[in-house]
Amino acid sequence: EYEKVGKLGNRILVFVRLRPMGKKEKEAGSRCCVKIVNRRDVYLTDFANDSDYLRLNRLRGRHFTFDASFPDVATQQEVYSTTTSELVEAVLQGRNGSVFCYGATGAGKTYTMLGTTDNPGVMVLAIKDLFSKIRQRSCDGNHGVHLSYLEVYNETVRDLISPGRPLVLREDKQGIVAAGLTQYRAYSTDEVMALLQQGNQNRTTEPTRANETSSRSHAILQVVVEYRIRDAAMNVVNKVGKLSLIDLAGSERALATDQRTVRSLEGANINRSLLALSSCINALVEGKKHVPFRNSKLTQLLKDSLGGACNTVMIANISPSHFSFGETQNTLHWADRAKEI
Ligand code: ADP
Ligand code: MG
Repeated sequence: EYEKVGKLGNRILVFVRLRPMGKKEKEAGSRCCVKIVNRRDVYLTDFANDSDYLRLNRLRGRHFTFDASFPDVATQQEVYSTTTSELVEAVLQGRNGSVFCYGATGAGKTYTMLGTTDNPGVMVLAIKDLFSKIRQRSCDGNHGVHLSYLEVYNETVRDLISPGRPLVLREDKQGIVAAGLTQYRAYSTDEVMALLQQGNQNRTTEPTRANETSSRSHAILQVVVEYRIRDAAMNVVNKVGKLSLIDLAGSERALATDQRTVRSLEGANINRSLLALSSCINALVEGKKHVPFRNSKLTQLLKDSLGGACNTVMIANISPSHFSFGETQNTLHWADRAKEI
């Protein structure tokens, strides 16, 4: 049903996913301020300015179009197939790819990435698909699938599979790596959901809300596929592909897009990694030679996963509630800008 998206690799593909209205939002008298048409167009209504006679002009600024936009009835499988399945294919060809979920706290990022046991999200569906594709071509050679799952919180990197001391980032031949990070060898899909759910339990929580993941925590799942094939001359060739799936911190306090605001917010101890990601995206949009990857842990880790030459997918998660209008508008503006990379 979704239009086939253009060739990967030239630019970031940007998607929007609207989540259903929550029970509490309904009870609080929430109105739906987002409409998705033709699985592409997003219309935003500002009820606060309902009577404004310049409504047509306002409307113009509140229409967005993306590679695809998912209404609240879209299934996890639809979201996976449209946004990520081609990246899985590319990883099996020895290339890298990454998928980010961006949006305010409560907008549906973790649901999209991890999901539930009954409705597994992109992380689990990607690994399932990977295993099934490997099985189909198992005669091609030996495959090894290794998972690592880590968190960046407050500029500290932690292993989510075997939590312990903070990890140090080191530069080696493959790029930036977290020293001592667990590389979990995975053999089947069944073990993966449990592993990721456990990993998510290990994410940092705010002391005041012990059961809720901190809105300032970024979770990064990296899936490395290594395999051996024989080329035409019957020589053994090693290939490696890497897929990074990232559940970003809540964007509500880090929406600055211009450098001046970015700098003033840094002093206020706002999420440095998210601001750095925005700065890198700005630099890439503007075609700058210098992209400030070194400014945060997140951007160091994802240096090889951003920019023109790699396959990058962004999923912007939004809430339908008019109570979240401002956050939704900011998220859509950010996503609109990311399209230009
Ligand atoms: P975030 O990670 O962005 O803070 P969550 O993924 O935790 O947000 O979503 C907030 C709530 O909304 C959760 O209870 C989640 O189960 C629910 N939710 C989010 N997206 C969907 C969806 N597409 N369908 C059904 N429930 C959803
Ligand atoms: Mg979350």
